[in-house]
Amino acid sequence: MIYPWQQTQWHQTRQLLQSERLPHALLLHGNEGLGKTDFARSLASTLLCRQPAEDQRACGSCSTCDLLAAGTHPDLHYLKPTAAENSKSKNPVMNIRIDAIRRLCDKLNQTSQFSGYRVAILEQADKLTSSAANSLLKTLEEPGEKVVMILVTAKTYRLPVTIRSRCQSMRFSVPGEQTSLQWLKQYLSGSGPSSDHDDRQLQQALKLAFGSPLSALLHLQDMEYQQIISEALTASISGNNSLDYAAKLVKFPKVKTLESLLSWTSDLSRLVACGADSMLINEQHRDMLQSLAQKVNQQRLYRFQDQLNFNILHSTIAVNEQLLWENLLLSWDNL
Ligand SMILES: [Zn+2]
Repeated sequence: MIYPWQQTQWHQTRQLLQSERLPHALLLHGNEGLGKTDFARSLASTLLCRQPAEDQRACGSCSTCDLLAAGTHPDLHYLKPTAAENSKSKNPVMNIRIDAIRRLCDKLNQTSQFSGYRVAILEQADKLTSSAANSLLKTLEEPGEKVVMILVTAKTYRLPVTIRSRCQSMRFSVPGEQTSLQWLKQYLSGSGPSSDHDDRQLQQALKLAFGSPLSALLHLQDMEYQQIISEALTASISGNNSLDYAAKLVKFPKVKTLESLLSWTSDLSRLVACGADSMLINEQHRDMLQSLAQKVNQQRLYRFQDQLNFNILHSTIAVNEQLLWENLLLSWDNL
């Protein structure tokens, strides 16, 4: 995907390709939420496609494009930070480690499966450990023929100078507000009627995202999600049927929704136990929470909390999510 605000970089890349001067290592950098990794994937597709279009974009229909779409092309290698294999932490440190770099370099040293390019994309390259960065240096210095490495980062300053100096830098800037607004409107118009946002909301999301359109999109999706949660949990006091929201909740990550429900439950517990002045997680819904707190039975509230914790603990077990949300919403209504 080449976004409207990446035209300059794409034009520059096309010129490099046409004159066969594409460097073997590129460093794509700029703020979060500008689609740098999508740009890297587009460039990789162009390099690997058997019959790129006149504007150098991948054709999307040849046999290698099919492999790329399936994520199984043997000459495209993709690395991003992961937790250490033996880590049991809930919030593990995410890094690109030396083992992963060694495996990558081994693969890049092998002959291409299709007698063409071999491409590696390193997402969040700033998360390379220092030993991994050192291990990468040799391949950056002496890459095999037709090897292209694309490093992507929003934090260039965290990359060792030795790595930076071996890559050709390509900077991505935050687009002007009009470009971002236009793209957001166009994108959201294809996401169904529930994604109907006015200009003020779009501008606010862009402000929160420091102007990055893809981060703004995440903010907007989160606003929509929060809206659905609050409507589902206050359906009983607004005269709606909470079960109607079960199908909507299925579209969101299960644990995220369970944790949202837990935060509402915890707010209710505080209001019931400590009174109206309690500090709340969902402060913006204080009025609704206070109405709910007046009719809550404390024992049922604790049982509901246990039910949520049980589901979070066993979240990896596959369940019928529609039924799960229907059950939980019914229990919530009967607290
Ligand atoms: Zn193709």
